[in-house]
Amino acid sequence: MVSRRDLLAYLDDFGWRDVDARIGGARPAPAGSAARGLSGAAREPRRAPRTEAAPPRAREAREAPAGDPLAAADLAAMGSALAGCRRCRLCQGRTQVVFGVGNPRARVVFVGEGPGAEEDRRGEPFVGNAGQLLNAMLPSIGLRRQDVYIANIVKCRPPGNRDPQPDEAAACMPFLKRQIELIDPEVIVLLGRIAARYLLGTSAPISSYRGRWTTWQGRDVLPTYHPAYLLRSPLGKRDSWADFKKLKQRLDAAGAAKRG
Ligand code: URA
Repeated sequence: MVSRRDLLAYLDDFGWRDVDARIGGARPAPAGSAARGLSGAAREPRRAPRTEAAPPRAREAREAPAGDPLAAADLAAMGSALAGCRRCRLCQGRTQVVFGVGNPRARVVFVGEGPGAEEDRRGEPFVGNAGQLLNAMLPSIGLRRQDVYIANIVKCRPPGNRDPQPDEAAACMPFLKRQIELIDPEVIVLLGRIAARYLLGTSAPISSYRGRWTTWQGRDVLPTYHPAYLLRSPLGKRDSWADFKKLKQRLDAAGAAKRG
């Protein structure tokens, strides 16, 4: 059960101080209390956080190194080998392939749907408004952006930010799978219905399965709302907060089990 105090502190952390009025009117807890109250001591990373830069930028992509990205031994080599990818029509409108970013040994991989305009320009996932919200959510459970790994179902921007089409997702999926294999995370968090649709094969409304643990290829998976949805529908943060707490509990339990 999420306490009201924690919920309000979480909403406050997001800079959505007005939301509390809509859910009942209590005053938000003082800034910073969420991180203290929920995270306790800072999480001991399983392995040293080492942020892997996004692979070569678009314009280098035209001279991308040849080679099978799936045969690459690490994420950096894989990103380089994918930089000139022309396996689906999305290559026509993109500025660059947005491979993924974060700790190559992350305990958690977040999967979104596909790059937007800002991500396409900068070559890094979740750097626009939704990304800023995600960045603000992570510390509430003791994580930082550089602790986790962030990727998308498709690595090239769909024109006009439309949903990725099934054939585009299918063309990109082997690369996401290989990224996940290389990172070997304990948990995958699916951000939004598109990630869930293509990874789990469901087209049910995300509200019907968000926050419920499932598995994909033997790994624990937690679907939750996409941060872009939370920006449009701030009341969804209540559920999102419950989901993030579940994620923290799972990571804490796995950490405690490992320490014996
Ligand atoms: N939304 C996504 O799903 N992915 C991004 O990288 C950015 C916004």
